Amino acid sequence: MINRDKPRIGILGAGQLALMLAQASKTLDVAIVCAGQPGDCAEQVATVMPVDLDDAAEVGAFAAQVDLVTIESENIHADVLGGLHLYPNARAVAIAQDRLLEKRFFHECGIGTAPFAAVDSLDDLNNAMALTGLPAILKTRRMGYDGKGQVRLRRPEDAASAWAEVGGVPCILEGMVSFEAEVSLIAARGRTGKIVFYPLIENHHRDGILRISIAPFVDTTLQHEAESYLVNLLERLEYVGVLAVELFVVNGKLLANEMAPRVHNSGHWTIEGSETSQFENHLRAIAGMELGSTQSRPTVMLNCIGTMPMEEETAAFPGLFRHDYGKEARPGRKVGHLTFPATERKAIAEWQHRLHADL
Ligand code: AMP
Repeated sequence: MINRDKPRIGILGAGQLALMLAQASKTLDVAIVCAGQPGDCAEQVATVMPVDLDDAAEVGAFAAQVDLVTIESENIHADVLGGLHLYPNARAVAIAQDRLLEKRFFHECGIGTAPFAAVDSLDDLNNAMALTGLPAILKTRRMGYDGKGQVRLRRPEDAASAWAEVGGVPCILEGMVSFEAEVSLIAARGRTGKIVFYPLIENHHRDGILRISIAPFVDTTLQHEAESYLVNLLERLEYVGVLAVELFVVNGKLLANEMAPRVHNSGHWTIEGSETSQFENHLRAIAGMELGSTQSRPTVMLNCIGTMPMEEETAAFPGLFRHDYGKEARPGRKVGHLTFPATERKAIAEWQHRLHADL
């Protein structure tokens, strides 16, 4: 018998990425259910089932109620992912959630990175500094995001305090590169192996948190270089879904920093700026549908960190799109974002300033 029900997609997590995936699902023939906690922001548009994401039995029971599962964060215990009908696959997630495996995988795929070394002890750290040079950044292998789990070292004497600061957990030490720009490339690969790319995006961070993304970063040579890297990563991983890779531009070449096996903050502008958003293309890919066009217009995205601007204030700018995730205001928290067509220079400059997102 043919099952005419919509495919049910379960998202592990119910934060803003799940929220925007659920919003994108409204025009597709799929149903979304999230695994999270009461009060999570995806609740505004989707069913959120209470699930402890660290508990394999609870995640398994959630997965049994849907046709396939996807993630909104790579920081999820690899043990709970085994045996799920998961897109992207568990191997891709396992590599992306461990900075050491990720960097080694970049090298296997012929993609350059900053110099790095594994650090499991203070002795290792002292030896690693000789390899990477100084300044360098000590990063925890797992659970790092938005600059968390990172300590900068300027002098050899910083080693002991840096090791204490990260709590003595497995790390990598990375040489600091002096980059001309930080960019990201977002691609979607469908179940048939078809790949679509968005244009390169220029990103600006402060305190380790993305503040502003500008699309496109126009450089045909680098666009081709980045696309060839992504093809390599996606094909070797037999990846299905959206993959984002963050890169440094150093001496006119690309070095990979990290990859995210999910929709990415630097791609939020695609909701208004592209014919098909990253959220819709992720759902299309994992549900086995045709991927949509990534034809894009120049667009700027500003993150709202800590608090959302007042609605009356943003309403004064007709070209502005406001996304309020409905989260409680808290310092350092991503609570929303604003999107503008790149032609709205005056409005962008004003909001950059107000949101402390100046370049
Ligand atoms: P990450 O969590 O690895 O994305 O790092 C957060 C931010 O720190 C990056 O977006 C860069 O601005 C900066 N950063 C990280 N690694 C390096 C590096 N090896 N050299 C220079 N800057 C870095």
